[in-house]
Amino acid sequence: MARHILILGGGAAGIAAAVAAAETAPAGTRVTLLERNARVGKKLLATGNGRCNLSNAHRDAGWYFSADRKALAACLAAVEQADPLGWFAAHGLWCREPDEAGRIYPYSNQAADVLNLLLDWLERTGVEVRTDCAVQELRQQREGYTVRLAGGESLRADAVICALGGSAGPQFGTDGFGPELARQCGLRTEPLYPCLVPLQCEKKQVQGLAGIRVKGDATLLADGRPLRTERGEVQFTEYGLSGIAVMQLSGLLRPGGKPVERQISLNLFPGEETDALAARLAARAKALPGVTAAGYTTGLVNRRVGLAVWKACGLGADTRPAAELRGEDWLRLARGLTDWRFTGLQPVGWNQAQTTGGGIALSEVEPESFGLRGCPGLYFVGETLDCAGSCGGYNLHWAFGTGLLAGRHAAQGQPPQRAKPRTGRKK
Ligand SMILES: Cc1cc2nc3c(=O)[nH]c(=O)nc-3n(C[C@H](O)[C@H](O)[C@H](O)COP(=O)(O)OP(=O)(O)OC[C@H]3O[C@@H](n4cnc5c(N)ncnc54)[C@H](O)[C@@H]3O)c2cc1C
Repeated sequence: MARHILILGGGAAGIAAAVAAAETAPAGTRVTLLERNARVGKKLLATGNGRCNLSNAHRDAGWYFSADRKALAACLAAVEQADPLGWFAAHGLWCREPDEAGRIYPYSNQAADVLNLLLDWLERTGVEVRTDCAVQELRQQREGYTVRLAGGESLRADAVICALGGSAGPQFGTDGFGPELARQCGLRTEPLYPCLVPLQCEKKQVQGLAGIRVKGDATLLADGRPLRTERGEVQFTEYGLSGIAVMQLSGLLRPGGKPVERQISLNLFPGEETDALAARLAARAKALPGVTAAGYTTGLVNRRVGLAVWKACGLGADTRPAAELRGEDWLRLARGLTDWRFTGLQPVGWNQAQTTGGGIALSEVEPESFGLRGCPGLYFVGETLDCAGSCGGYNLHWAFGTGLLAGRHAAQGQPPQRAKPRTGRKK
């Protein structure tokens, strides 16, 4: 019987795995891609605001979140070897030079073009793509694996690559079944949490500010201790804070461990010493006779932002003349502008998350193939693993790279051996 490789999930990782398996496998091998949506690559179309930020020139482990830094380093080294950008180039996808943040986009700046090329390669390499096809169960048999679909059909395979994603963006077809399946198969998983996501804070702290964008430094603090600072744009929403700087920090909100109070400190004047800023603010008031709080910050920061900081510093009403402020007041205002605190932080939820923190422990897979240790022929790739990248193309780089490695390895066709039986099903 012809060897059969089944790929579960038609996202970035699954499509790359399917093409890589089909182009590497000996003639006669069947490769089938199963996707529960009506089409493959739905999420890919939404990436990079429709432009598909598919990699980053500044790749290193510091841009990724995982509970296992050692295994992460080995996995990323293997993904580098897989060279997803080189693979794209060899298949005719041109990319632009990296932008100032190292982000790499296709030359056409169109996610749809990336997907169309991938669809073309699926067809050329003879991958059978089955959509509207929800996987419900994976069972290890004496020889190979059986995958059962919603509706009852069962498919036999010699190798299975699980690329079912995580829980982020359920509107694109992902509901956490990938890590859940792995857990049922007896694998160790890290608790899932929404990553690259806006954060809620206490509503009164952002009242009246929705829609305003500011530039500055956002620092995440745990019990007052700074964990990381991100420079960039912060956007106020009705419920809290968004923008790339805040979304990057959300990756650090891994659940578990000892409870700590988390805050965001926003510095609207990065690089300014508080004392020097206070002196400059006081001198500025002298040049604006008669100005009140309502007008004082015009020309420094957005007016509504300025007033919110003024009030958060306890400096009184909008009508208070700036000339009334004394030395200690100016110091308080300078502190407010450089260390504006937001408390009660919570990720807003999976719908707005761009990726999944947590997932299958990286120590469960062999980095050179993403095959499950001790279980030949079974692979886990992409977002389903405990590796979440920062904003900037790191997640797609990971998804494509892990998919390529598993696809190429599965194509080499090591016969499945008897190991601990693995079974998982959708509840
Ligand atoms: C709005 C948005 C923008 C983003 N922009 C970027 C960006 O510009 N750059 C970047 O690097 N990253 C970006 N990301 C993150 C990136 O898209 C993902 O990390 C990456 O696509 C993960 O690929 P994956 O194949 O592992 O999982 P997914 O792309 O989630 O694919 C998993 C697939 O499995 C299917 N599936 C799930 N369960 C079943 C089942 N039971 N049966 C059959 N099929 C199933 C799903 O429908 C889905 O198609 C963005 C994410 C979002 C939500």
